[in-house]
Amino acid sequence: MKSSIGVGLIGTGYMGKCHALAWNGVKAVFGDGPRPRLVHLAEVNRDIARQKADEFGFGKATGDWRELIADPDVDVVSVTTPNAFHAEMAMAALEAGKHVWCEKPMAVALADAERMAAAASASGKVAVLGYNYIQNPLIRQIGAILADGTIGTVNHVRLEMDEDFMADPEALLYWKSEASSGYGALDDFGVHPLSLLQVLLGPVTKVFAHLSKPYADRPTKEGTRRAVETFDTASVLFEMGAGISGVMALNRSAWGRKGRIALQIFGSKGTVVYDQERMNELQLYVASDRPTEQGFRTILAAPQHAPYDRFIPAPGHGLGFNDLKIIECHELLKAIGGESARVIDFSTGLVIEKVVHAMYESHRRGAWVVLE
Ligand code: NAD
Repeated sequence: MKSSIGVGLIGTGYMGKCHALAWNGVKAVFGDGPRPRLVHLAEVNRDIARQKADEFGFGKATGDWRELIADPDVDVVSVTTPNAFHAEMAMAALEAGKHVWCEKPMAVALADAERMAAAASASGKVAVLGYNYIQNPLIRQIGAILADGTIGTVNHVRLEMDEDFMADPEALLYWKSEASSGYGALDDFGVHPLSLLQVLLGPVTKVFAHLSKPYADRPTKEGTRRAVETFDTASVLFEMGAGISGVMALNRSAWGRKGRIALQIFGSKGTVVYDQERMNELQLYVASDRPTEQGFRTILAAPQHAPYDRFIPAPGHGLGFNDLKIIECHELLKAIGGESARVIDFSTGLVIEKVVHAMYESHRRGAWVVLE
């Protein structure tokens, strides 16, 4: 493996900063792998790009993302722009021979996601998606609990993802309410719990969905009102292989919920429960406990839950959201180095996209949709 790797970053909003922090931190946290060289940063114009490049530690700055992609010093490109840009930017990077770390959702149109998966496979480069929640050491621990049979055979799953950034009916309309961003809660939110399902229990096989718009229109920064084009809530029934049924509820207008991704997995011998709002703990109920001592026990994140130990040696002190991004970055670098890695690549990402589009199709038809 090379001793360093050249990084390009497109976009410097919420996720752009998370990627920048991850690229800055990954070597200090993990010690191994190549040292990231922060080579080139792209934004909507050169002034913003220059300012952010200085803040984040990147050398070159451009207002034209194609210049970054053409830069021979860039080996890997972080795509952190709004959803509508993912397909074009990721495919251009792959075609230029770069590895790609693209934010979720993979694309807006299913045909674009299919093209991205094909481009990744043809390029021989590593292309992974920003499914950071699968990186939580406690999500890995849930995987271990399922694998060793502690809760028996899983028969039912309940997933919820709620936040309140769209709960205020007078909040300004922005790209997340435009159809160019996708369906709304389904591809903005739904893909995250689906990524957890994918790594813990495998793919969804059948769906029945209902979508809704809590608010018909929103104010714009120009002082007018415009129709909301996306669905901020989704209620979904689903089935998975091996007789697992499930329910998924999504709401971007849920006052009081700040970052809830609640997961309940019910098995023949117990239950495991997790909520991203309390990302450093999980709850486990084991039916074989003595009847007088039955109840959910709380397990706090600790160095025994790798790679928590790479951040901090003390149990119960906790990791944060940006630490998940650092772990994701490390897994990406492992994949680039040819090691086995815990990532959702473009081919598995396409599986998730197909489920999301099947959910929209089910809503449109008012019927169950079976995935191939
Ligand atoms: P944002 O609006 O905060 O940031 C987007 C950035 O892209 C802005 O800085 C904008 O100026 C820049 N940009 C837009 N067009 C550009 C162009 N043509 N060239 C260069 N830069 C351009 O958005 P965000 O919340 O960071 O979301 C970005 C992506 O990250 C979305 O796809 C979103 O779904 C995803 N996201 C992922 C997570 C997660 O947990 N993994 C969380 C939030 C957002």
